[in-house]
Amino acid sequence: MVKINNYLEKIMKKTRERNKGEQEFHQAVREVLETLEPVLEKKPEYRKAGIVERLIEPERQIVFRVPWMDDQGQTRINRGFRVEFNSALGPYKGGLRFHPSVYSGIIKFLGFEQTFKNALTGRPLGGGKGGSDFNPKGKSREEVMRFCQSFMTELYRHIGEKTDIPAGDIGVGGREIGFLFGQYKRITNRFEAGVLTGKGIDWGGSLVRTEATGYGLIYIVEEMLQDNDNSLSGKEIVISGSGNVAIYAAEKALELGARVTAMSDSDGFVHDPEGINLAAIKEIKEEKRNRISEYTDMHPRASYHPESSEIWTIDCDIALPCATQNELDEKSAQSLVENGVLAIGEGANMPSTPEAIELFVNHDIHFAPAKAANAGGVATSALEMTQNGMWDSWSFERVDEKLQRIMKDIYKLISATARKYNMEGNLPAGANIASFEKVADAMLDQGVV
Ligand code: NDP
Repeated sequence: MVKINNYLEKIMKKTRERNKGEQEFHQAVREVLETLEPVLEKKPEYRKAGIVERLIEPERQIVFRVPWMDDQGQTRINRGFRVEFNSALGPYKGGLRFHPSVYSGIIKFLGFEQTFKNALTGRPLGGGKGGSDFNPKGKSREEVMRFCQSFMTELYRHIGEKTDIPAGDIGVGGREIGFLFGQYKRITNRFEAGVLTGKGIDWGGSLVRTEATGYGLIYIVEEMLQDNDNSLSGKEIVISGSGNVAIYAAEKALELGARVTAMSDSDGFVHDPEGINLAAIKEIKEEKRNRISEYTDMHPRASYHPESSEIWTIDCDIALPCATQNELDEKSAQSLVENGVLAIGEGANMPSTPEAIELFVNHDIHFAPAKAANAGGVATSALEMTQNGMWDSWSFERVDEKLQRIMKDIYKLISATARKYNMEGNLPAGANIASFEKVADAMLDQGVV
């Protein structure tokens, strides 16, 4: 663990006491605090204004009951969350996660990360996150719809296009956004397109939003490689997950001439040394909503391994963790390094443990941290909101071009910031400091609120 000064250690201690048992939140806060010392030394006014203390305390937290009826007529109860973390730069913005592991510690860590990520996009967005411990797996379409309607029946009073704008995340894709938007419209009697992002293309959605996080990840990885006189062309890539982020990262990587040799879901991974057939993965995961193990029925040359985390033992040039938090630990990082990995790009939020990050940074592995690397999704959500505000819809090429520009700018900003603070190449530190400075300066300008 990196040492931090007494002031930051006290803040960390208080964070643990006030947010008991919320391990993911403690981890996310610690990771940021470990990089802030040089900025706080340079700008003592931040400490006087209690910026760090305020940043780690959400502005508002909402927890609510979500009752719904299953197909057998049985009433079920889940818990809903919305954490409105920070509005210094704009309205709260961040996705909704539906997964049985969801509790306040997960939503808080995601909301905290989101505040920094949104700052990096250069768009006027604050940070927030929400979700529920509802498990959409194995539920019928009607059950998912009834759940979404009940969830929105409480959430609607807290959100709005100038207040708080949710989107998707794990377990929340286009189908769920549709149900949520329908219920919001019904309750409020307003077609307020800017209240949710990730909408369908014919009712206020933006082209490229579906692909944005995965494409954005590949754009920033390519930028990072080119900055080091290399490129994705001809590289072997391992991608964890087979959801929204993983699938579109794979799509863009293939377009740029790379080969994806392994992908996973929460049960296991498939290894296809000749290159994964992405159309087959899309069919299994997007259309049929089935298990990735089915891939080997269609492609007998591939092998299936029933342990997701073992995916990191596969030899590759580039590793893209795109599934979930803490999926890549020190042992996995060790095998990647031993196998000569060149670069890591974090598509998921906080997928690498602190020990894994330390190992990558110490071995000079090019490492694009989540806050920067997966910001393409929210950046394109901001482009969706812009189109909604203008009553316009842009072509795929126009949105994609803007997304590429944003990812390049993020890379330039975080690498220049790392350099400015004498940590050349340390992109996690560059991302934390660059985003912290933006949010902190806005908070200073706005007084003690
Ligand atoms: P999806 O629900 O579309 O996909 C998640 C994928 O990860 C599924 O394939 C799931 O498998 C798999 N998975 C879950 N847990 C594990 C595990 N322990 N090991 C291996 N695979 C696992 O979610 P998204 O693709 O949208 O999100 C993935 C990550 O990216 C999350 O961390 C999210 O916060 C982050 N992110 C997403 C953005 C977006 O725009 N969607 C934007 C920025 C970040 P299974 O099918 O078995 O559930």
